[in-house]
Amino acid sequence: MSTEGFSTRSVHLPSQVDPVTHTIEVPIVLNTAFAYEDLESWLRVALHQDPGHIYSRNSNPTCRHFEEAMAGLEGTEAATSFSTGMAAISSTLLALLSPGQRVVSIKDSYGATYLHFTQILPRFQIRCDVLDTEDEEGIEAAIEQGCDLVYLESPTNPTLKVLDLQRICAAAARVGAITVVDNTFATPINQNPASLGADLVIHSATKFICGHNDALGGVVCGSRALVDRVYRYRELTGSALDPFSAYLLLRSIKTLALRVRQQNENALRVARYLEQHPAINQVYYPGLASHPQHDVAAGQMRGFGGVLSFDVKGGLEAIRRILPRLQHAYMAANLGQVATIVGPPSATSHVECTEEERAAAGIPEGLVRYAVGIEDPEDLIADLAQALS
Ligand code: PLP
Repeated sequence: MSTEGFSTRSVHLPSQVDPVTHTIEVPIVLNTAFAYEDLESWLRVALHQDPGHIYSRNSNPTCRHFEEAMAGLEGTEAATSFSTGMAAISSTLLALLSPGQRVVSIKDSYGATYLHFTQILPRFQIRCDVLDTEDEEGIEAAIEQGCDLVYLESPTNPTLKVLDLQRICAAAARVGAITVVDNTFATPINQNPASLGADLVIHSATKFICGHNDALGGVVCGSRALVDRVYRYRELTGSALDPFSAYLLLRSIKTLALRVRQQNENALRVARYLEQHPAINQVYYPGLASHPQHDVAAGQMRGFGGVLSFDVKGGLEAIRRILPRLQHAYMAANLGQVATIVGPPSATSHVECTEEERAAAGIPEGLVRYAVGIEDPEDLIADLAQALS
């Protein structure tokens, strides 16, 4: 891991200045196939003996810069990019797993990820044991029975549960399992799972990395050997990031540290305000001392992130009235953006799940996911006060 701070690393990206054009900004290379003057030089690039690009489904200069920037922020050897976060997640699982193998994961992973463990992987005779996120002893015991891949998310979406990543990665390493961590909620500014023992770190770049609600993307960071296996699957199945989105994501990375610091502060201020509000049953935010895994979070995170959720008294009926009254929050299915975004899990992360599945995952129907932006925290609090009054 580089010794430079995150803001420095975000604006001085690896090999950023183009050696031919000398541009400081990474150009958007809108180009499908790359031409060569003779067959020998073309073949040397195609066989990875010389650097270069052949075809943008495989690699593209703008996307390569984005991958290098993300590997730099996560402190890993390599990274490969995808069209969306779900493309990154499904490609990782399908690239690394084979029939007869076993996955251990948690009940609180992102809704579409969870459905991979219950609906997609079992079709390929891959056994998936999805355990209670809070039962770390149970997770360790399941891993120790022997497994091939451990899939984690911390903090989780939308109930902000926190896992002791070092402890679970160590258990996985003892049985030779690959550990994959979705670090979307924390961002590399707040947490680096690779430094806690994770083999692969995944982001939905659509969220905090983008931050401006204008690009989709995904990325997988890790050792060159593992990333190459995931890349190979992407190369064959085709869910490549497009260069224009890569450019938008690169531009956003430059302010990632600034934005995330403001979002950490805003979320903590809002969480503390809501915690004492009479209309709220419970606030879920790892930065609160009342959070059951607050100490673990404080040990492995540099900041607690920009997403919190809260359970409103009166359930779905109450949130139906309250959410449209908010003036400084869009009702939408995204998070990690410069403007605050709000929504119930039943319309966002867990829209694909039944009410019973949400209840089993401990998601009350009155839960609201509140993903702060970079607004002034006083304005967010005043807005919540008037909407809840
Ligand atoms: N992982 C987490 C934690 C998410 O919140 C999301 C989307 O909300 C995803 C993955 C999927 O990302 P995308 O929407 O970019 O496919």
